[in-house]
Amino acid sequence: MSDEIFEDCGVVGIKSYKGENVVPAIYWALLTLNHRGQQSYGIVTYDKKFNVVKGLGLIADLDIERMSGWCVKLRASLGVGHVRYATSGSIDKRKLFEDAQPIIVAHEGRKVCIAYNGNIANVVPLRREIEEMGIEINGTSDAYVLAYELLLGIEDEGDLIEGVKRVLEKVDGAFSVVGITSEGEMFAFRDPHGIKPLIFGISEDEETVGIASENVALAVNGILKNRSIAPGELIVAEEDVNSYQLHNGTEALCAFEYAYFARPDSKLSNGKYVYEVRRELGRRLARRYHEVAQRVDIIVPVPQTAEDAAYGFHIETGKPIEPIIVRHRYLRHRAFIMTKREREAIVSHKYNILYDKVRGKRIALIDDSIVRGDTLKYIVHVLRRAGAKEIHVFSTFPKIISPCFYGIDMATFHELIGFNRDEEEIAKILGVDSVNYQTIRDFCEAVGTNNLCLACVTGRYPTPYAQKIADEGRKLALSGSRIRGRLVEWGG
Ligand code: SF4
Repeated sequence: MSDEIFEDCGVVGIKSYKGENVVPAIYWALLTLNHRGQQSYGIVTYDKKFNVVKGLGLIADLDIERMSGWCVKLRASLGVGHVRYATSGSIDKRKLFEDAQPIIVAHEGRKVCIAYNGNIANVVPLRREIEEMGIEINGTSDAYVLAYELLLGIEDEGDLIEGVKRVLEKVDGAFSVVGITSEGEMFAFRDPHGIKPLIFGISEDEETVGIASENVALAVNGILKNRSIAPGELIVAEEDVNSYQLHNGTEALCAFEYAYFARPDSKLSNGKYVYEVRRELGRRLARRYHEVAQRVDIIVPVPQTAEDAAYGFHIETGKPIEPIIVRHRYLRHRAFIMTKREREAIVSHKYNILYDKVRGKRIALIDDSIVRGDTLKYIVHVLRRAGAKEIHVFSTFPKIISPCFYGIDMATFHELIGFNRDEEEIAKILGVDSVNYQTIRDFCEAVGTNNLCLACVTGRYPTPYAQKIADEGRKLALSGSRIRGRLVEWGG
């Protein structure tokens, strides 16, 4: 993707029935999931008490001495970990550190630890309700709201299952959760629509149980037998591993996972490798827009997630792929420590264009999705300057017309280039000859299922509170009002 759009989190939980130290396995899993969150990380282990470490930035930047120290400090046979990009709460650096997950909340002598991927749409009313009970919520992230709902449910009803049922009933949004109770049970559950992925796995010798946002984070630890946790399903690992189906919802997995977020070597609910889906998305674009696709001289993918789709486009058209846009490998975008001017400088230095390969060419520019279009606009500007004759943009994801309230960092209408604009208007803004979006039908056929969340491309949300915020926000946006900050935090 040319725009910098971030997922909010990756989670992992590991329990060793052999009593092995799980900290190295959690580290490797978090490293594998670092694409899902780059602002902060944390590990909590349990050995009759909780042991916590947290940090800001990338797990990949942790030095080996520090990690070795953690292996000793946190040593335990049960633990959870988290990488985060903040799509709720404050992005102040100190707050980001405080909100780093996993988090532990306590009430009336009980504690619960959670690491979670998602976003709560009704966070404002739920937070108010908890605070009216006299509970002071220390963090700004919605993870605290979810954790307190769970803990209060456990307290009221006396067990974890009832606590999770309460969360499934009250919380509107996306939540894939892994956690540990103060009794040492590891648990994991997914919201009733399974909007975020969550995988359960077990090692060949059945001595290690793992939970992770993507199966690759388990595979790197040798946990190859795995399956998706069902929407509304709770898994509890104590002496044995048990599964409880607490809600029977139809899955609505985030469609964006297939286009952009998940690693190409992951398998999500449809059982296919993500790269296979992306390849098929490219093929379908070439077929759907046959005439334009045949007109171009070269195929140029926006690095890095559009490369599989570009290959599919190439198989279908026979046109050559030219990797003339090269992304700077070590230039990282850390929005929370940069000014606007620094961010713009990063965008203008992030890509190098091979000028002498561009002159006189008709280009099919393949991008996985178009959210704000800022970076794409910059790339087009440079390609034009280098003498491109025609530029046709192909987006593997359908046109994004509505915000996400489920944990992807596109939280308002006005930031979306696709909101209230047709393709011609978008092409004009980008400075290209045509913009060709994947149709929703082709997208679902490429994935192999309609059981997807497609709210950002249809405006129809799988949960009622998110729908309410979207409908109100759309009315305001169409009337020309601009909401400051995230709609979901305004929406209560
Ligand atoms: S609204 Fe879009 S980005 Fe958000 S969960 Fe649904 S499909 Fe994913």
